[in-house]
Amino acid sequence: MTSDERHAAVLSRYTDFVNPYLGRLMAFAGFGVEDHAEGCYIYDHEGRKLLDCLGGYGVFSLGHSHPKVVQAAKDQLDKMPLSARAFFSERTAELAEKLASITPGNLQLTFFSNSGAESVEAALKFARAASGSTEFISTYGGFHGKTLGALSVTGRKKYQSPFEPLIPGAKFVEFGDAEAVASAVTEYTAAVIVEPIQGEGGIIVPPPGYLRDLREVCDKMGTLLIFDEVQTGMARTGKMFGCDHEGVAPDIMCLAKSLGGGVMPIGATICTQRVFDKVYSENPLLHTSTFGGNPTACAAAFATIEVIEEEGLCEKAETMGEILKSALKKATEGSELIADVRGRGLMLGVEFAADEVGELVISQMNKRGLIAAYTLNNPRVIRFEPPLTITEEEAVWAANTFGDAVRETEEILTAL
Ligand SMILES: *Cc1c(COP(=O)(O)O)cnc(C)c1O
Repeated sequence: MTSDERHAAVLSRYTDFVNPYLGRLMAFAGFGVEDHAEGCYIYDHEGRKLLDCLGGYGVFSLGHSHPKVVQAAKDQLDKMPLSARAFFSERTAELAEKLASITPGNLQLTFFSNSGAESVEAALKFARAASGSTEFISTYGGFHGKTLGALSVTGRKKYQSPFEPLIPGAKFVEFGDAEAVASAVTEYTAAVIVEPIQGEGGIIVPPPGYLRDLREVCDKMGTLLIFDEVQTGMARTGKMFGCDHEGVAPDIMCLAKSLGGGVMPIGATICTQRVFDKVYSENPLLHTSTFGGNPTACAAAFATIEVIEEEGLCEKAETMGEILKSALKKATEGSELIADVRGRGLMLGVEFAADEVGELVISQMNKRGLIAAYTLNNPRVIRFEPPLTITEEEAVWAANTFGDAVRETEEILTAL
């Protein structure tokens, strides 16, 4: 089979059996077929090597197929891939202890699941059970997943409207405004849920002190605080967790995406003893998941945390983030298409001055061997979330290639 035939075959199966609308969109945007991946690179059906600056929306913080994480998962696969559920699982217990040791404050007990949305579902249920209240305060542009509960606190109408009514009692306020939260909290509030940096909202870094102010507001009003660290967690922003930048801890923290090291899917909802007791003391099976905490995923996640510590990935994210950010600024200096370059650590975003520019730039980047995508709730922003293992040479190449893609897009737009 030639590479073109291979592409045609997978495209036709996508359009017939997966999602014809998405399949056509991906084909139109020039998506190839992924073949294999290693480190910062993805290899497609034509044997092209592409630098991954999308990083699976934050999944591939360790790069692709990190050997230590792959080995940990393989060892467990050979022994016992899934839990029999009628025994204690060592891998689950070890990982939960490790999470308690690296998370801030009094976060202690972990409920395991398989994805970000599931970790948020658990957080919302825990908050309701622990508070005896039902309402949530979230932020415009915030993204917490697409299951019904998580979608109810995801601040974008476009994704909510077709599924209404969602769970009642979700209120939205501007991200970055702690006073707005203070005015919105009532006796019916179960919890406030925010991302330390909005990811899908367009890589929005809140003003300094925001998280600390939220903590203060929640303490004063006696309401729970949930940090959704699904994207900011596990060293992405230059510290282990986004909230570590302000030295504050939530009552409930959600993790997923990079927790499995880019090898296994896993979600985790970590909460304080106080919250946990109120949820589970009368019924230890009140909220459960069949595959949650399975030993293969837990072994991969445990190895992931070890790799982050051994390879100093928090420090790397910080230094490489500065290098990539300033290189992106330099490479796009003077361009009228660019409105802003921002972010923290290796969670960076470039905002365009107009709609529909992003798509053109992305296709120019792809042509040059660089993968990126825009943020789901804000198509004006291209995200750069490469593996934290990216080298300085690769970061500079990515920025210059992006600069070339922007310039060529400018020429195309001027010619129109
Ligand atoms: C991606 C994401 C989710 C949802 O995760 P899924 O695994 O896609 O369900 C939730 N919260 C944040 C902040 C995310 O970035």
